[in-house]
Amino acid sequence: MGVFDHAEFDNHESLHHFHDEATGLRTIISVHSTALGPAAGGCRRWTYTNDADALTDALRLSRGMTYKNAVAGLKFGGGKAVILANDRAPKSSELFAAFGRAVDSLGGRYITAEDVGCTVDDMRHVREQTEFVSGLPHAEGVAGGDPSPWTALGCLQGIEAAASVKLGADSLKGLRIAVQGVGHVGASLCHLLHEAGAELLVSDVSRENLQAISAELPVTIVPPKDLLFSDVDILAPCALGNILTSTTIPRIRAKIVAGAANNQLATTEDGALLAKRGILYAPDYVINAGGIISVAGEYYHTSSEEQVRDDVGRIRERLKLIFDEAGDTGRPTNEIADELARSLVAAAR
Ligand code: NAD
Repeated sequence: MGVFDHAEFDNHESLHHFHDEATGLRTIISVHSTALGPAAGGCRRWTYTNDADALTDALRLSRGMTYKNAVAGLKFGGGKAVILANDRAPKSSELFAAFGRAVDSLGGRYITAEDVGCTVDDMRHVREQTEFVSGLPHAEGVAGGDPSPWTALGCLQGIEAAASVKLGADSLKGLRIAVQGVGHVGASLCHLLHEAGAELLVSDVSRENLQAISAELPVTIVPPKDLLFSDVDILAPCALGNILTSTTIPRIRAKIVAGAANNQLATTEDGALLAKRGILYAPDYVINAGGIISVAGEYYHTSSEEQVRDDVGRIRERLKLIFDEAGDTGRPTNEIADELARSLVAAAR
């Protein structure tokens, strides 16, 4: 399938494919919009079934970044990079240096950072080749570093806001919360939820990550195929996207879906399906903006760590407004958020 007739093509500004023979790097950088600033969004390294899946992911994720950055009030447009992982291109400093050269060749139209499959250390190698990267080691008290703890903090606040609106709960104490994926964000979120008194069910496809979290916290491990349908108050997706579908939604027992994963809804209509079932959905790109808020503070050298904490704190208020509007109008939360994001981008144009 071509790009312009691709189902996920949404007037993306540009799409860039790079190959580096020496390292085997194959990467797609998708620039969805630069209306509000340079297109910013993390780099995902993942084993895709085929190139078409990688392209679909890049197109969807970059549009999500436009919406995320707009709603978070950042001077960033939306973009995303995917690195196609395979045995011929193992993770190495050279691979990320080659990726850095690809980013650099775009002259600042795209700014990268960590996403699934990438670490602060990987971004250090990117930095050797380009200035258009964030999420780097940072001095104490200054914004920067691994964005995932900030993403987790924003999610905690969004979960609290949802619990207050939907369950009338003024704390998470005693609530049962299922966390799908205990990687960087999911594990961080589990710690915050545990401190808040929640009872945790977790799943992951990585035995190593499950062992790590169960050594640190009291958690019940659930097989990945069952987690979405657990008997819980809240479902917090923190793995990959496309999990909320016309097949899965009828079986979800949680009253709230609120987590970090990007592109949780398979289609826009699935948001309406959740609303119809009375499940309160926290639009993913609103609740998971904590990381990019930190990235922006670091990139523009504008924020102390305290400032980032305050800015991440606004996620709670933003979600509350969306939840209230959904309550007043009966409209699905994802549609309210999409409309807001599109109007902010249109105004910038
Ligand atoms: P990560 O790679 O550190 O963690 C993802 C975890 O999900 C891994 O442990 C992986 O094994 C697990 N997983 C994959 N498929 C699974 C499945 N079917 N069932 C259960 N577990 C599964 O990535 P991360 O940085 O923690 O990001 C998690 C999600 O949050 C992603 O969707 C990412 O795009 C999104 N996100 C991350 C950030 C950030 O700051 N890192 C910011 C915004 C959004």
